[in-house]
Amino acid sequence: MKCVQVAIPLPVRDPFSYELNTEAAGDVGIGCRVRVPFKNREIQGYVVGFRDEADVKSIKPVLECLDREPVLDANFLELTRWIGEYYFCSWGEAIENALPKTVRAGIKHREGSAKVCDTGAPFRVTLNEEQEAVVAEIFPALEAGAHSTFLLHGVTGSGKTEVYIRAIKKTLDLGKSAICLVPEIALTDQIREFFRGHFGNLIEIIHSRLTDRERFFAWQRIRGGESRVVLGPRSAIFSPVKNLGLMIIDEEHEGSYKQEESPRYHARTVAWKRAELEKAVLLLGSATPSLETMHAAESGRIRKLELTRRIDERELPEVRIVDLKQEASNRGKSVAFSFPLIHEITQSLERKEGVLILLNRRGFSTQVHCLQCGGIVQCRHCQVALTYHQERGRLLCHYCNYQRRLDEACPSCRAAVLKYVGWGTEKVESEIARFFPQARIARLDLDIAKKKGKQEEVLGDFRKRKTDILVGTQMIAKGFDFPHVSMVGVISADVSLALPDFRSDERTFQLLTQVAGRAGRGNARGRVIFQTYSPHHPSILYAKEHDYRRFFDSEIEKRRELDYPPFCHLINVVIQGRDEKEVYGVSREFCSKLKGHREKLPFREILGPAPLPFYKLRGHFRWHVMLKGREVLGMNRFLREVLSDFRKPSQVRLTVDVDPVSVL
Ligand code: ADP
Ligand code: ZN
Repeated sequence: MKCVQVAIPLPVRDPFSYELNTEAAGDVGIGCRVRVPFKNREIQGYVVGFRDEADVKSIKPVLECLDREPVLDANFLELTRWIGEYYFCSWGEAIENALPKTVRAGIKHREGSAKVCDTGAPFRVTLNEEQEAVVAEIFPALEAGAHSTFLLHGVTGSGKTEVYIRAIKKTLDLGKSAICLVPEIALTDQIREFFRGHFGNLIEIIHSRLTDRERFFAWQRIRGGESRVVLGPRSAIFSPVKNLGLMIIDEEHEGSYKQEESPRYHARTVAWKRAELEKAVLLLGSATPSLETMHAAESGRIRKLELTRRIDERELPEVRIVDLKQEASNRGKSVAFSFPLIHEITQSLERKEGVLILLNRRGFSTQVHCLQCGGIVQCRHCQVALTYHQERGRLLCHYCNYQRRLDEACPSCRAAVLKYVGWGTEKVESEIARFFPQARIARLDLDIAKKKGKQEEVLGDFRKRKTDILVGTQMIAKGFDFPHVSMVGVISADVSLALPDFRSDERTFQLLTQVAGRAGRGNARGRVIFQTYSPHHPSILYAKEHDYRRFFDSEIEKRRELDYPPFCHLINVVIQGRDEKEVYGVSREFCSKLKGHREKLPFREILGPAPLPFYKLRGHFRWHVMLKGREVLGMNRFLREVLSDFRKPSQVRLTVDVDPVSVL
């Protein structure tokens, strides 16, 4: 019997076969959405193939075909099939993840709305020599219409965006389309207007505030070839553009390109696969490329392009390290604002230049200690300290959002001697206001950005110089071009170093380099202060010197010695549940089952089971097993086999994270 193969958007293994009866059969083609019975309900699935089935009895019929013409093309199907295989989810789940909600929901749509017409009015600059040289490498690749990947390594303020614009224009001239990814936080009015100015009504901008309806119409315009440039965050990599010529990933090292829920895909990896399938050019841009990308460039697998100087020969900022240990011993107490920092801020304010102050920790005090019993006030569901948020007057858990009112007494011993310690952005903001009563101060962190329109307002006011000092978390460090900022202060360069994750040195270097790069993009030379308790740490020292090369050389050696990415692939299997003993038991069993297959093991190493650094989160105890190997697809095949007959209590969850970006 002729059957269709349907990918089901649930964590199941293979596509399922369904019978086509005559009514439904007429229009069904590969890439159509169908309604099918599954277990005891009806769901929507995606036709991915046809097949002759001999065993007819167990086969159920397709109930309805939702499309006259396929909504998914062959490349999209192949890409999502690969994502399922690589990122350990089903094909159907990978398909659903890549589609707008309304398409997933099976709604039959009428024609989309035509978009408002605006024509681009570009503000045109002449490329400098380095930019010209870079563009001269990219254009032939675009013309060749074959797959190639470039790393554009350009120091902060070197004019990478202008290179992107030229490459996209070239792509359009060739009759093709382009996708440009930027990290979600950098997707502000500024960059939107900039791109709109260049590409007018050819552009489609995807951002988190779009409604489902707007998202769907955007998807339709892209699919219809009306929109040929897509600007958006991670998920925009799945845009169904016609005739893809170019994909750009700006700030390619950014962790937000990895999705932290299933499918746990990385947009860079997906883009690379898509470029291969659709013979497109992939351009990865960064001032601080990920170790993976730079390693690929060094070993010749991708091509490296460099912008070594800032626009108009502007100098990179002068960075000074302030040793907080020294400062504390000089002043007899530990301080958050060293004298050099205060001095620099004062100078900038006098000269009416902008100041950015970074502390990558939100809230007011990061811990509440009891001086009587020595305890720290913790979350009820997580093994983490609660953060005191003064504005809300509450203690808050940053992992599960648990909140409690401020108590005068210690929750464990009832003594009324609580001490608030550790600095967050709220406290920095209020302290700066105390030091500089005449200054206009604003703050940007997750608590502010959650309020609708507030992030745009804060950034807009700062750009228009209605505020003098902007305090914030990493949100202020990413990609902004504020020419009037001459001074950047980092309250504590050590925040991310303390995290027990193999990427924490890399992340610290990136964050410091990026935030320092915000200074001195206008006429005045930038000045930067890093305050730290570890003034000799390579991440801090090399960031001070703007020396990516030496940072890379030292970090890559460590990775080689410890056999970590980019020298291997990691698969992180996380086992969690509410019953501590049960979780531990399952973790051990799983591990011994893996090790039982020793002779045909596709892994170089099996680490664990070990408790995760955040051992208890949201009421769940968490263990993990880390697998190291060379070839992901082979590792996954083996893992699937092991898991196919692995029994565990249903309340214990097991998740597989391929190429994890954070292991906490
Ligand atoms: P990056 O992304 O490399 O940090 P940007 O792309 O933001 O740097 O460029 C920094 C600034 O230089 C921007 O204001 C940009 O408009 C300007 N710029 C870029 N290229 C040129 C050029 N060739 N001539 C003059 N200004 C330029
Ligand atoms: Zn919590």
